[in-house]
Amino acid sequence: MFRKILVANRGEIALRIIQAAKKLGIQTVAVYSKADAASPHLKYADTTVCIGPAPSSQSYLAMEAILQTALQYDCQALHPGYGFLSQNALFAALCEQYKITFVGPSPNSMRNMGDKAHARSMMQEAGVDVVPGSTAIISSPEEALRLSHQLGFPVLLKATAGGGGRGMRLCRSEAELGQNFVQASLEAEKAFGNASLYLEKYIEGARHIELQVLGDAFGNIIHLGERECSVQRRHQKLVEEAPSPALNEQLRNHFGERAIKAIKKIGYQSAGTLEFIMDAESHLYFIEMNTRIQVEHPVSEMITGADIVEEQIRIAAQHELRKKQKDVTFQGHAIECRINAEDPANHFQPHPGQITRFRPPQVEVPGKIRIDTFVEEGCHIPPFYDSMICKLIAWGKNRPEAITTMQTALKNFVIEGVPTTIPFALQVIQSKQFTSGKYDTRIVEELIS
Ligand code: ADP
Ligand code: ADP
Ligand code: MG
Repeated sequence: MFRKILVANRGEIALRIIQAAKKLGIQTVAVYSKADAASPHLKYADTTVCIGPAPSSQSYLAMEAILQTALQYDCQALHPGYGFLSQNALFAALCEQYKITFVGPSPNSMRNMGDKAHARSMMQEAGVDVVPGSTAIISSPEEALRLSHQLGFPVLLKATAGGGGRGMRLCRSEAELGQNFVQASLEAEKAFGNASLYLEKYIEGARHIELQVLGDAFGNIIHLGERECSVQRRHQKLVEEAPSPALNEQLRNHFGERAIKAIKKIGYQSAGTLEFIMDAESHLYFIEMNTRIQVEHPVSEMITGADIVEEQIRIAAQHELRKKQKDVTFQGHAIECRINAEDPANHFQPHPGQITRFRPPQVEVPGKIRIDTFVEEGCHIPPFYDSMICKLIAWGKNRPEAITTMQTALKNFVIEGVPTTIPFALQVIQSKQFTSGKYDTRIVEELIS
C-alpha cells in the first residue's frame, strides 16, 4: 500500500479522500489555494501545502505546482477527486512519467472516454445501445442539418469535450440548428479548448440512469448497481437516489451484465460511471462515461456497504477487488440532496459568503443520515469554485422510509449566513412526482414554473 498520497482537490471530496486514506493507514498531503487557506478540511491532512492564488488555473489546475509538491513531499500516489484535473489524460500521463500513481484509469482509457463522440462509438462497437445520432464529429452545419432530418427534430448539439452540464444546445427546428451550430462550436472552443461537436436525437422526458463500475488491474469488473439522477437543473444533478424507481431486478441485471461485458472489452481500471438516458419505453441508451469518482457516489455506498474511494485507492495500489459480482448485494434505499449556497428564489444564483450557523439535523429518524461536508460554523464558501456546502444523504429500509428520513433531516438542518437550496430540495422530496417515483428530467422545470 502507498505510504503517502497527495489530495489534488478541495472541499468535501478532499476530506472524503483524506478519510479513506486514513482508513488505509496512508498519510495525506493536501494542496490548497490561497482562497482556501482557512478551509476546515485542511485540519485533517497530515501536511498542507499552498500551491497558488485563488483562480483554479493557478492552483487546482496547475499541473506543475501539484506534481512538484507530490515529488517534494515524497507522495507515491495522487487522488484527483472530481472536476479540476480528474479527467485530464495529459495530467494522468505526467503523473505516470514522474512515477506517481494517478488514482484513476490509465491515460489511454481517459483519452478514449474523455472524447464523448469517441466514447459513443467505442461503446456501440462493444454492443451497447447509444442514443441515435452522429457516428463521429460533425464537420459542418450542412452535415448537422442532413442528419437532423434523418433523426427528426428535436436534436441536441453536444461538445465532444463537454462536461458539468455545459456545452449542450437543444435545437427544435432547422432554424434553431442553423443559429446554434457556429455559436456552440465557438463556446466549446472557449470553455473546453476543443470546438468539435456531435449530435444526438433529443429524448423528451428522459430519465438519467447511471451505473457505478469498479475494475481492477487483473481484469475483474463489477458493478454496484445504478443511480437515478433525473432531478436536474440546467443538466446538473440536484437530487440522486439508488436504486432507480424505474428499474426492476430483471431490467437491472440485464442492463448491468451488458454494460460490464462492454467495459471488459474496452478494458477499464478504477471506479467509473456509465451514464444512460432511459426513454418512455424503458429503453436505455448510453450517453457518456465519467472516468472518476462522482459527486453522488454515496448513495451507492449506502445501499451496498462499499467504500468506493477506498476501493479506488486499493485498485491503484494493484490490489484485487474483494468482491465478485455475486457477492454484491443491495440493501434498502438511499437519497442524496446537494445543498448549495445558492438562492432558489433568485434563479439559483450562487451566493458565496460566511456560514454563520451550521447545525446538521439532530433528530430521531427511522433510517440513517450521512453528511459529506468540509464546512464548519464560521467558515466561508469562496466565490471562486462551485457553491456546494454539503451533501445530505438519507438511507431507509425502503424508498418511502428514505423519503421520510430525508424530509425530517432537511426540515431540521439549520444553515445561516447564505441562502441555500434546502427549501427547494424539500419541495422536490415532497412533490407528487418524486414520491410517486414517476418523474423524469423535466421535474425541476415543472416544480419551479
Ligand atoms: P457528477 O456526475 O459527479 O455529478 P458533475 O457533472 O456534477 O458530475 O461534475 C462534477 C464536478 O466536476 C463539478 O464540479 C463540475 O463542475 C466538474 N466538471 C465536470 N466535467 C467537467 C469538465 N469537462 N471540465 C471541468 N469541470 C468539469
Ligand atoms: P455532461 O458531460 O455535461 O454530464 P451528458 O452528456 O452527461 O453531459 O448530459 C447531461 C444531461 O443532459 C443528461 O443527464 C440529460 O439530462 C441531458 N441529456 C443528455 N443527452 C441527452 C439526450 N440525447 N436526450 C435528452 N436529454 C439528454
Ligand atoms: Mg454527464
